[in-house]
Amino acid sequence: MKIGEKLVRYAKKARLFNLMSTVRNDEEIELLRENALLVSRTLAEVAKHIKPEITTLELDRLAEQFIRDHGAEPGFLGYRGFPNTLCISVNSVVVHGIPSAYRLREGDVVSVDCGTRLKGYCGDTAYTFAVGTITPETANLLKVTKESLYKGIEAAKAGNRVGDISNAVQNHVERFGFSVVREMVGHAVGREIHERPDVPNHGRRGNGPKLRSGMVLCIEPMINMGRKDIFQENDGWTVRTRDRKPSAHYELTVAIRNGKADVLSTFEFIEQVLKN
Ligand code: MG
Ligand code: MG
Repeated sequence: MKIGEKLVRYAKKARLFNLMSTVRNDEEIELLRENALLVSRTLAEVAKHIKPEITTLELDRLAEQFIRDHGAEPGFLGYRGFPNTLCISVNSVVVHGIPSAYRLREGDVVSVDCGTRLKGYCGDTAYTFAVGTITPETANLLKVTKESLYKGIEAAKAGNRVGDISNAVQNHVERFGFSVVREMVGHAVGREIHERPDVPNHGRRGNGPKLRSGMVLCIEPMINMGRKDIFQENDGWTVRTRDRKPSAHYELTVAIRNGKADVLSTFEFIEQVLKN
């Protein structure tokens, strides 16, 4: 069946091409913004409860309830078999920590990554919280990681390439002696949580796919205080630093519109809570 084979090959190529170059119209971007804002508000709800003694599973439950109360579905629950609504990654856990009976302690840093599905589109945003007082060195890791995300966003404009985002993130954190996790990367977002292209947090200026208006990207530096090396635990999810030093993770969803970044999700709601 030569014609059949050709058709299949053509369909695969077309699909690949489509994935590599998905651009969204204004209507789609607004649906992605709805998701992005719901995730942002969910993280602010979680922020209200981040304190010593709460379990990470309790945080997960209240996030799930909040998302469902707003007519959406948790984006991560069941995604490739992930068992919960939130990825909660404490201290040396980089990402993909599974909520559990672990009780947060004074001095912990806890990265909370949240996804939604609403009206056929996805949201995905993450924030790293300090539990009570943390060491100045760890506070600096959080500050620099968040700054690197904004450096990446500045580079997210039409005509640039993905490598310009990657390079901006890497340059910033390495200046402070921190290291970029290589194995996990940001991504485009749309009807699926993880779409192409990948958005690595290390790379060369001028490399990678070209950025175009209508692309919607999740930029998410995962930055280690010590060495870049990581490993995955036996649960098949938890990703931890090899040297057991802390790691930080911040993520925002960014649309490229009229040539420049329109940040769809926000940390404003979270930081309002943290101020009080
Ligand atoms: Mg995420
Ligand atoms: Mg993501």
